[in-house]
Amino acid sequence: MKIIQKTIRKAYQNWSPCKEIRCWHYCGAFDGTKLICFTQNNPIKTHAGAYRIGENFNLPKYKEFPFFHSESRLIDKLLNRYNYINPSWKIVVMRINRCGKILGSKPCINCSKLLQSVELNEIYYSLDDGNFMGPTVDKIYLEPFDQLSLAHNG
Ligand SMILES: [Zn+2]
Repeated sequence: MKIIQKTIRKAYQNWSPCKEIRCWHYCGAFDGTKLICFTQNNPIKTHAGAYRIGENFNLPKYKEFPFFHSESRLIDKLLNRYNYINPSWKIVVMRINRCGKILGSKPCINCSKLLQSVELNEIYYSLDDGNFMGPTVDKIYLEPFDQLSLAHNG
């Protein structure tokens, strides 16, 4: 799927192994197949925007721990940029660990609530085996060759 491949490519362009960070989470928003917004988590630095999301969407956890998850960063950025969220936009979430391996990135309970409240329902997320799960129960299989070439050639 094009939007998944685009997200993987972009994620590896942004990925840099880091001592303090076990995993990077990445999130892309697509209008059709056009990438309109791309974000990553920041588990190290708190952010006023993360707190604001907690406040505006009634998510106490994000007020207590105002660190951006890739999804909350994405919603914050989309709202700042467009002032609204179009429910037809598609979201792809993925995670890469320190070794460069794709791992599962099912949105956490709070990000799920957040995505639901802005009516974004077409969510794709990575699985521990490097494949992706779509909005229906169907697993999206990526060719191992695809994953490798996307990872190494940018
Ligand atoms: Zn989350």
